[in-house]
Amino acid sequence: MGRVFVAGSINMDVVATADRHPRVGETVAGRQVLYFPGGKGANQAVAASRLGARTTLIGRLGKDSFGAELRAFLGDQGIDLGYVQETAEAHTGTAIITVAEADNTIVVIPGTNALVSADDVSVVPLLKGDVAVSQFEIPLPTIAAFFRRARSAQATTLLNPAPAQTFGRELLDLVDILVLNETELGFLAGVELSEGDEAARMMDVARRLRAREDQTICVTLGKRGVLALAGLEEIVVSGRVVKAVDTTGAGDCFVGALAAQLADGIELHAALAFANAAASISVQRMGAGPSMPTAAEVTAVL
Ligand code: ADP
Repeated sequence: MGRVFVAGSINMDVVATADRHPRVGETVAGRQVLYFPGGKGANQAVAASRLGARTTLIGRLGKDSFGAELRAFLGDQGIDLGYVQETAEAHTGTAIITVAEADNTIVVIPGTNALVSADDVSVVPLLKGDVAVSQFEIPLPTIAAFFRRARSAQATTLLNPAPAQTFGRELLDLVDILVLNETELGFLAGVELSEGDEAARMMDVARRLRAREDQTICVTLGKRGVLALAGLEEIVVSGRVVKAVDTTGAGDCFVGALAAQLADGIELHAALAFANAAASISVQRMGAGPSMPTAAEVTAVL
């Protein structure tokens, strides 16, 4: 079976909870401080690894205490960290999150994530049947170099263009599977999409975004599930009715699960149904990394 290689971000999410947000220049007493392993790359690797895929993460950590904690956490998840290097040039990526009044503010400092380079991905031992996954929290030229390498090895490339930013046709051309939510689809296609939009309209927008006909576009629709355009085939997987408590990392769970299934040789429709079920389990638990399900938990609900 193939392996999953994720080139991406690794962050420590530092969450402060308080009764209300401070005004500019003001100090308020908080209730609690919580530390969560995060970053889209790390979350997606955790999802794939927990689901049983042999998973390698490519990224960078700082030579600091967050770096050491994150390495220990990711290692415990069974992820191969042989391509995660420590560098003294910056601090480990950190997100400072304040949660108050059922709302949050977030400041993300990319730190070492901004230093993940084309050289870092140039030595990765990708093979035919592997799945190469990336997102937009590391430099775009690094992603392009990673995908070029993957394609020359006949591995499948999967891009999750989040957080959304514009990118060139050159990178899009290197993508076999694009996985994005409807906000990102709307942003990249330059159209307004809303929750009430029909599947047919989404398919139409996805079709216009495609760089080539053999590219697959998967649009995640939150509780409404996912739809995909693969060649001439249109696939719709309905959302699963669950009681969501925290949707943080739902998209990352979906991406990691889809990559794990494709590396296992599962065909697209079944892989999408599995990833949809996996993500629906993750939203029923708090946090991102710790909410990722195991294969047995997903199989039990399918
Ligand atoms: P993102 O987290 O990137 O915004 P979505 O909100 O589209 O992505 O969620 C990704 C996937 O997670 C969905 O396609 C679905 O499978 C699952 N999901 C998200 N929210 C829910 C929910 N409330 N109930 C069931 N499944 C959900």
